Amino acid sequence: MDTIVLATRNKGKLKEFKKILDPIQILDLEAIGDQEEIIESGTTFYENAKIKAKRIAKKYGIPALADDSGLEVDALHGAPGIYSARYAGVEQDEEANNQLLIQNLKGIKNRKARYICVICLYYPDDTFHIVEGICEGEILETARGNEGFGYDPYFYSTELEKGFGEISIEEKNKVSHRFKAIQKIKEYLL
Ligand code: IMP
Repeated sequence: MDTIVLATRNKGKLKEFKKILDPIQILDLEAIGDQEEIIESGTTFYENAKIKAKRIAKKYGIPALADDSGLEVDALHGAPGIYSARYAGVEQDEEANNQLLIQNLKGIKNRKARYICVICLYYPDDTFHIVEGICEGEILETARGNEGFGYDPYFYSTELEKGFGEISIEEKNKVSHRFKAIQKIKEYLL
């Protein structure tokens, strides 16, 4: 297999997948001219990744990859979870999402959290393979740095012993949930 479609319109994601999965050719939805908005109607990262990859694999008769990721906080029973992008109600309002997270954790000692990335590789014949990458950490009380995106200014990586807001994208990508999941897909493919 030398071409796979990645079910995303996010150029940053495309770049990261391409870099790790080289020499496999990865095309995004723009490259194949797909305009459809795929509704993430699942209740887990696993279901959402599978819904997206299956939709594209069946529609175009080509192997497809899709990911779904987010932040899980123990003291919030796994929230924001699959709703990470719209935790405060509005899609991608990172400032509001972070404020709500900090407010909901006010006075709570257990700050344990993790980023999770699930990737599904789906084939047109309905076989599929699903992997998960996890990045353990803690939620900080105050923001540290403003590198990264989303919850990164408040996420402290216990593996790196640094905040994700304080480090370069290259350093983050060595331990990130997405990096770990893409690596697992690579091991499976090669
Ligand atoms: P997506 O499934 O990759 O689009 O991620 C959904 C949401 O999870 C994002 O909008 C962010 O709120 C959060 N998220 C996922 N990965 C990261 C990360 O590496 N840093 C910060 N937030 C993330």
